[in-house]
Amino acid sequence: MLHKKTLLFAALSTVLWGAAATQASAAVVVSLKPLGFIASAIADGVTPTEVLLPDGASEHDYSLRPSDAKRLQNADLVVWIGPEMEAFMDKTATAFPDAKKVTISTLPGVKPLLMKGADDDDDDHGHNHDAAEKGDEDHHHGEYNMHLWLSPEIARLSAVAIHDKLVELMPQSRAKLDANLKDFEANLAATDKQVGNELAPLKGKGYFVFHDAYGYYEKHYGMTSLGHFTVNPEIQPGAQRLHEIRTQLVEQKATCVFAEPQFRPAVVEAVARGTSVRMGTLDPLGTNIQLGKASYPAFLTQLANQYSSCLKGD
Ligand SMILES: [Zn+2]
Repeated sequence: MLHKKTLLFAALSTVLWGAAATQASAAVVVSLKPLGFIASAIADGVTPTEVLLPDGASEHDYSLRPSDAKRLQNADLVVWIGPEMEAFMDKTATAFPDAKKVTISTLPGVKPLLMKGADDDDDDHGHNHDAAEKGDEDHHHGEYNMHLWLSPEIARLSAVAIHDKLVELMPQSRAKLDANLKDFEANLAATDKQVGNELAPLKGKGYFVFHDAYGYYEKHYGMTSLGHFTVNPEIQPGAQRLHEIRTQLVEQKATCVFAEPQFRPAVVEAVARGTSVRMGTLDPLGTNIQLGKASYPAFLTQLANQYSSCLKGD
């Protein structure tokens, strides 16, 4: 009797386990690569992580493909910043059940850390006033800077939120998820210290960034940019803005201007031409970094190297 029960239980549990395993392969689906760095560290060895935005695409201008919508609908867990950043998945993500979703911009710990977005009224006085305003509406540019993955502090809070949701959804994997979160926090703390040391000598160096993405990172590490070419990379900077930047470059107030791998507009090179300013690259999405346990620290380190390789040396 006992033997039969055991057999039956074994058979049943194989069926159940099979179903659970199939479900687990549906994965954590994140909007942007750096959120994948965080999620893949937490979900490591438990469930795969998939990134929606393809390498080389802009977080400000993407449209979901039918296959993306399917991946979203089948996800175990969806992780995104919120409708003010990923307008491209707003409808699908908003309709997704809260129990299987992390919306980073609305986490209770994150709200008090939000920084205001840049107020770019001053470059709306040019000829393309209407175009700029329309563009802003189209891209849901709100009150706050939504490049939240560039804050090590918010990254940690996001990791905790992803961990907590995965524990609710996959309680059988709690031990592994707990260990992964502990490792993530330890790695992050060590890298944060290293990056702080690397960037400390560069405080006070002047530079311009291509788009207004880096506020959280710069605030955290005590860097101050002189300004940005544009708030929304899809919108050409106004003539007045370019003139102001050019004036500061000619007066040698800046050491570097930073373009991005996603955007290499001729306008940045044109503004820098004939001055002694150096051209650098900052990658706000960590395009060439593979997902995995150490990927978020690698992303913070890569950015630090990108800043310092251009800014140091004079
Ligand atoms: Zn951006």
